[in-house]
Formats: sequence, C-alpha cells, structure tokens
Amino acid sequence: AVSNIYRGRFAPSPTGPLHFGSLVSALASYLDAKKQQGSWIIRIEDVDGTRCKPSFSEQITETLNSYQLFSDEPIRIQSQCIHIYEQLLSELKKQQIIFPCNCTRQSLAQYDGNHPLECQSSTSKPHSWRLRTSTAVYQCQDSIQGTLLFTDDLKNNCPILKRKDGFFSYQLAVVVDDHLQKINHLVRGADLIETTAQQLYLYDLFGWTPPKICHIPLITNHSGDKISKQNHAKAIENNHLPTLLRALHYLKIDLVSPSSITEALSLAIEAWDSSKLKGIKDLPLEEQDLHF
Ligand code: GLU
Repeated sequence: AVSNIYRGRFAPSPTGPLHFGSLVSALASYLDAKKQQGSWIIRIEDVDGTRCKPSFSEQITETLNSYQLFSDEPIRIQSQCIHIYEQLLSELKKQQIIFPCNCTRQSLAQYDGNHPLECQSSTSKPHSWRLRTSTAVYQCQDSIQGTLLFTDDLKNNCPILKRKDGFFSYQLAVVVDDHLQKINHLVRGADLIETTAQQLYLYDLFGWTPPKICHIPLITNHSGDKISKQNHAKAIENNHLPTLLRALHYLKIDLVSPSSITEALSLAIEAWDSSKLKGIKDLPLEEQDLHF
C-alpha cells in the first residue's frame, strides 16, 4: 500500500545559513529515508517573518544541493501556506481548545513564563492564540532515544499557536505540514524532544496519526551548548567533501577516502545504522572540528 512508503523530510528554519549541526541533521534524515528507499523532502519553515529571510532559504537550499541533497518533491515554503494554518486554527477555535491572550512577557514573568491563569482578553485587542493546558500524557517510542515519556509537558504550558503580531508558531505549522505532506518519519535533533508532546497533542486534537519520530544526538560546542545561529555557528562551506566526511563521522559513519560527494553519500546510505546512536543525546564537537 502507498501509505507504507517511507516519507521523510528536513525542515530548516531560515534564520541563518546552514551550519555544521544542521548538516548533520539533514544527513541523518536523508540517509534514513534513502536506506529505506523512501522520499526525502525539503521544507522551509519560515513562518516567523521577524527572524526568517528568503536569502537564507536560498542559501540553505544551495548548500544542501551542493552536498547532493536534493528534495524529491518541490520544496514547500510555509510562508506561502498561511491560509491553511488559518483554517486549521479555526478548527481548534471551534473545539474551544485555544484561547485569545494578550499577556505580555513581563506580566507572565512572575509565572516562570508559563501561563497558569487563562486570561479573558478581549479579542478586539491584538492578541495571540494559546493552546489550553491538558492532563494528557504522551509516550513515544523513539528508535534512538528509547521510550520518551511526557507526563508534565502539557500541564502548565499554554503554547502560542498564533502570535500577537499575526505570525503562526512553528508548533502548529510543523504538525499541519507533516500531516498534509504525508510525512511518516521524522528524524531530527534532540533539541526538539521538548516540542514533541505538544505536537502529539495537536495530532490528537486534529484526529491525525502522528509520524514515527526519532531524535539524533545534538552536536554541541566547547561550552556544551547546541551549535546554533544564536551562538554564532558559522555557515559551512559548500561542496566540500572533508566537511561532509566530518558530519558523517558524528553519525558513526567513517568512510575511507571516497573520491567524491556522490560516492560518499551512496556509501553512507549503505553504512547508515541509527542503532549506533542509541541513547546518545548529545555529541560534543571533537578538537579538530571546533572551527565549526
Ligand atoms: N524548523 C525546525 C528547526 O529548524 C525543525 C522542525 C522539525 O524538524 O521538526 O529547528
């Protein structure tokens, strides 16, 4: 049946160029898909119009392509799908599972950034839409991290699904798109474990089946932080075999002098074995890679 065909994706947020950590994530999702003769799709998650730039989307795609990582289907760009998120947000409104809120960060500060009291904001003022708390408990069989149990994630947390400034949140858009694009496998960085319970909850609210989800180790810098745009991770060089080989090394694939990126990738598909990453939540950059 068609539904058994593996469909995976890499879904970068274009808030900066592709850095070493995101190359490792891109490769993991690609290798996992290709190992299982699946499709691999690139999706640009640019709903946050204040942080995302079209020039970064182009740069990211160019870098991925320079490593022979091509989307099997046209690249989906979230900022062009806003009407769809709007439609699904109104479904949640009908379910009365979301509420308008115009609290400020300052007024929430006394509650540790959570949202313990449901505000009765007038919807005529600029407001966000937040998901109500829930006592639902989720469990996820993560083939790399093992059983993930989420007991408190939804209890004292009212994530914003649409912001006061009109932009949709990552949480809503990612669930809607993975569903509409029939993505059935997520392979992504362990920093996203903390978003998983909210996403599983949204799948339930919409009555959709969630994909299989697994989280690869996070590449961390010398101070133990995720390498990210926030801490000035550099753009990686395009089309640079040594960089590719180092990225594969963190996925426990060590190739002996392949002659090209194309050859390296096909050897890597053969060698990919996610069980070698079992239980590893983060991987510090090795000495020789600190320049990344
Ligand atoms: N767009 C998200 C990010 O760049 C990743 C989404 C996902 O893999 O679920 O962090």
